[in-house]
Amino acid sequence: MEKKNIYMVQPNYLYGKSAHLPYAAGTIAAFAWNNENVKANYDLISIQFLRESIEKAVRQTENPFLIGFSTYIWNFEYNKALAKRFKELYPNCVILFGGHHVGPGTELLETYDFIDILIHGEGEEPFTQVLLSYLGMLKLESIPNLSFRKNGNLYTSAFKAYTCCDYKSPYLEGCFDKFFIEYPELDFMFLFETNRGCAYNCSYCDWGNLKTKIRQFPMERIRKELEWAVKNKIEFFGCADANFGILSRDEDIIDCLIEFKNKTGYPQKFQTSYAKNNSDRIFNIGKKLDENDMNKGVTLAFQTMSPIAAENVGRSNISITHYTQLMKMYNAARIPTYTELILGLPGETYKSFASGINQLIKAGQHHSIYIHNCEWLPCSTMGSKEYVDKYKIGTTFIPLNQPHMESPKGDEIPEYSQIVTETYSMDNNMWINMNMLSYAVQCFHHMNLLQFFAIYLFSEKNVEYIDFYERLLDYMAQNPVTVGGQVFGKILRMLQDVVSGKGSLVCYDKRFGDVAWPFEEYAFLDIVYWHDKFYDEIKDFLISFDFRADILNDLLLYQRNMIKIPNKCDTVFETAYNFHEYFAVLFEGNKGILVKQKNIVTVKDYNIIKTWEDYARFVVWYGRKESKNIYTDSVTVKE
Ligand code: SF4
Repeated sequence: MEKKNIYMVQPNYLYGKSAHLPYAAGTIAAFAWNNENVKANYDLISIQFLRESIEKAVRQTENPFLIGFSTYIWNFEYNKALAKRFKELYPNCVILFGGHHVGPGTELLETYDFIDILIHGEGEEPFTQVLLSYLGMLKLESIPNLSFRKNGNLYTSAFKAYTCCDYKSPYLEGCFDKFFIEYPELDFMFLFETNRGCAYNCSYCDWGNLKTKIRQFPMERIRKELEWAVKNKIEFFGCADANFGILSRDEDIIDCLIEFKNKTGYPQKFQTSYAKNNSDRIFNIGKKLDENDMNKGVTLAFQTMSPIAAENVGRSNISITHYTQLMKMYNAARIPTYTELILGLPGETYKSFASGINQLIKAGQHHSIYIHNCEWLPCSTMGSKEYVDKYKIGTTFIPLNQPHMESPKGDEIPEYSQIVTETYSMDNNMWINMNMLSYAVQCFHHMNLLQFFAIYLFSEKNVEYIDFYERLLDYMAQNPVTVGGQVFGKILRMLQDVVSGKGSLVCYDKRFGDVAWPFEEYAFLDIVYWHDKFYDEIKDFLISFDFRADILNDLLLYQRNMIKIPNKCDTVFETAYNFHEYFAVLFEGNKGILVKQKNIVTVKDYNIIKTWEDYARFVVWYGRKESKNIYTDSVTVKE
């Protein structure tokens, strides 16, 4: 008997030359085609991973029996358009949607008549069972976690939490091998799981809502997958675990990665989400990665510092005392860390948000804070009607909020993000003000443009960090033609556009390449583009802090020379104070003593970047978590 043709679709954007391998579709395929009946009766013809034009995708498809779409924010609209077209051309073809964007119940089936089956949650077992059902071996209604059409009616089957983790690897089953031959021009990113599931249930996340315990993949499988990626010379490894470092064997996995890097040069970088309750184990992992130049920053996540918001989203955080100790430990070992916050959680106000950022910086987080706008996800607890009603969640559609993806082309099907711009504790204006503060802190403090001033003023004159940045925002608003005033004025207008339903949270600028920039990185780039003008102008603002003139001038000289810019050769300058040593001591969490002594500071750039496009990509995009935008190791000081 002729086998039936199955197609899978998990399209994603390109990030320059880099593409994600379609891991979700691959895991499902690897599991399904390990079943003898599936193998004997179905052919997996292809897994589509690029956003081809609809016509091209259709042309590449022949007599499909079933097409499975893996769906998330970045491909929902595209998948719907493609699925609709397939249904028009092949009315008998089964259209199946799965993935994180498939909400509970039959709503998607009610709205889109071209979809036949939904898989809710994990896909390996139900997808295989659906294929078996079309061989008459099972009834659709007996398969857990499905919604489907039958005789003109819609049904949802019973929920099941999966406990198995003996799933085949898509890498080892060869699901992606041909991509390396067919697309030699692309660099692929490697995503792997060492375990699946999350012990927590944060209301904004659609992962915890799957209600599955942590299940460990066998070490043997993990090691072989890593070997596969090394053999294919993949530079970037991302681990998709929800809480990497939660298990003692995670340190062994890192040892294995380091062993590979030392033997072969691959991987070059490793990134993951670390476990929330940061432990000695995670410190050891961060240290090892850092020593081998593979660290993309250790996460010290909070998401919110407001106890009310934390309770509303079901999140328990480490205490600020513990966080301060951790910061001291990581800073002393010079291991980069970053702290994540989510803007717009219910219960958060401008005051609690500003005070939270202030506490984090005071605790020693000068390296990196990433502040994400809260995205409303249909499969999260926040996605439910009860939650929306209870916390008065209001959302706004914006073009896909995905930094660094290529700009949309003319015929591109737009994707959307739905972000929280209102809650019972935050109105639209407050959302705008919180964002302005967020961008100012990330751009000027954590991307270092005025960081030395903020630290000096806090240490010597008790100026709270947040007061410094609020005053800076006021200054820029009052001086709209300055470099800072212009870019922050543009950001303000774009935020106002967002709440009126016609804005975006990324911007494009040809000077910095053809990628989407989040506002804080865009502001940084635009200011550094006008570096000298910015530092000349900003003196006017800094004077208002009652500095001694010699300290102000010296510190300004030090600050402006520490920012990396394209085509900068060695710089030598003289300061009358020991600023370099003073800040080094402060960064380690100790009290710096400012001493008046002549210092000759030499800044050497060992990796001169020639163009603004390369600067934007390598220093700001790739290098932000490692603070590549500032000279630190290449600075020598003579007294
Ligand atoms: S945010 Fe992280 S810790 Fe919270 S539920 Fe999602 S995966 Fe788990």
